[in-house]
Amino acid sequence: MCSIAAQACIYDGLVVEDHSGYSSGPGRFGVLYEGTRLPKAGQGYLIPATWSERGLNYGVDEMASLLVYTGRTLHLHDEGMMLAVGDISRATGGRSPWHRSHQTGRDVDLLFFVDDLEGHPIVNEWMFHHNPDGSQRVGKNETPRVQFDVKANWLLVATLLDNPVAEVQYIFIQEDLRQMLLAHAREAGASRGLLARAREVMMQPGDSAPHDDHMHVRIYCPKNDLSAGCQDAGQMRWHKRDDKYKERIERLPGYESIVPAGAVTALPWLLR
Ligand SMILES: [Zn+2]
Repeated sequence: MCSIAAQACIYDGLVVEDHSGYSSGPGRFGVLYEGTRLPKAGQGYLIPATWSERGLNYGVDEMASLLVYTGRTLHLHDEGMMLAVGDISRATGGRSPWHRSHQTGRDVDLLFFVDDLEGHPIVNEWMFHHNPDGSQRVGKNETPRVQFDVKANWLLVATLLDNPVAEVQYIFIQEDLRQMLLAHAREAGASRGLLARAREVMMQPGDSAPHDDHMHVRIYCPKNDLSAGCQDAGQMRWHKRDDKYKERIERLPGYESIVPAGAVTALPWLLR
């Protein structure tokens, strides 16, 4: 039986999309209405204590579903994989002490998959910083404990890009780690289409921390939320289903009068 937990209907660990929640405004100045609560753990994913205690585990239902889907897919691939999920948004969206973005339920921080120094996968419960070669970046008197797991992190990126639930607009990640993932993907025989998309979607943000300790994932406005004021900012190239028609619509006479200027801005709202 389906039980109502917070605003979302959770059944057997799966978020049932009831489409009651929506995202309004751009990622940095927006709000979230009737956010869907991501359960603190599910098959193949968990929210480590540091983040679950903050309570920023609410998103649009597409975001919650995407995370449940990603955990399950990785788990089906390898039962040992455990995706560590950081902050999404507060239940009502808006500002929080920890982020400039994460205001509309369309942003999530994902901790990297890491191995111990012998190469055994471990569940990541902390945001470790990494050097350009994937080793852990530590302070002067600290000893490294983990290393970046290229194979598992590429599988995560590929799952996010290939998911049938929500369209990913950006994956913010430090440039050397991005290059390492792309090189691994090429070697592993990823398709040209997936590689091209990964190259564009992954990027190091220019106006915030370089993201060498986690990746920040943003999804496009769910289609229905556009009428509620959800605003996409930045690259639209991979938003195929809408873009296919958008250019045509923009050429129609009278378009300017129905869509206010600036509703879709060309400037990327980079994140932290
Ligand atoms: Zn973030």
